[in-house]
Amino acid sequence: MNDRIFRDAMGKFSTGVTVLTTVSDEGVHGMTANAFMSVSLDPKLVLISVADKANMDKKIKQSGMFAVSILGDDQLDVSMHFAGQKNNTDAIDFEWFDHLPVVKNSLASIVCDVYSQQQAGDHTLYIGEVKDLATQDSSPLTFFKGKYGQNQLINFASV
Ligand code: FAD
Repeated sequence: MNDRIFRDAMGKFSTGVTVLTTVSDEGVHGMTANAFMSVSLDPKLVLISVADKANMDKKIKQSGMFAVSILGDDQLDVSMHFAGQKNNTDAIDFEWFDHLPVVKNSLASIVCDVYSQQQAGDHTLYIGEVKDLATQDSSPLTFFKGKYGQNQLINFASV
């Protein structure tokens, strides 16, 4: 199967957008990621998928911990910065939360220790055990078919 067809099909799954952060000997590092999901309630686990070629991969392997900042729709510049799409250091504002940097004013900040990791093709799946989290009310930044967007609520369904 052609890579483009695979990517296009996966892009039809609408997601939120996060910035993963960790801290190593070289300091704080951030990377935009949408491969994030909740895994387990007991214990509380989440999963991220990080490309082997990403600098973030060796930094998480070194630190054994990471944080996930779920971005709001007013944080497009932050996402583009940490994806290397647009340099905008003015948009970057970290705060410290339980020994890890997180992106200030995010929808949610989730601080994890690496619980397990699994090589999967050209990515590593990291399962994180949640140590602490904080949330605030605002609307999410979304990603669909390779484009950023905003959430539109449909009122008749709730889970
Ligand atoms: P670098 O390319 O080294 O850094 C990324 C950018 O962040 C650079 O501009 C760097 O200057 C800046 N930066 C890093 N740390 C700091 C700091 N402390 N202060 C200020 N600036 C800093 N890739 C995946 O592996 N998994 C995913 O799930 C994933 N999802 C994505 C979702 C979206 C919507 C997008 C747009 C991209 C996604 N990517 C994903 C791709 C990934 O974000 C990029 O390939 C990224 O550039 C790789 O990060 P890196 O660790 O190599 O960091």
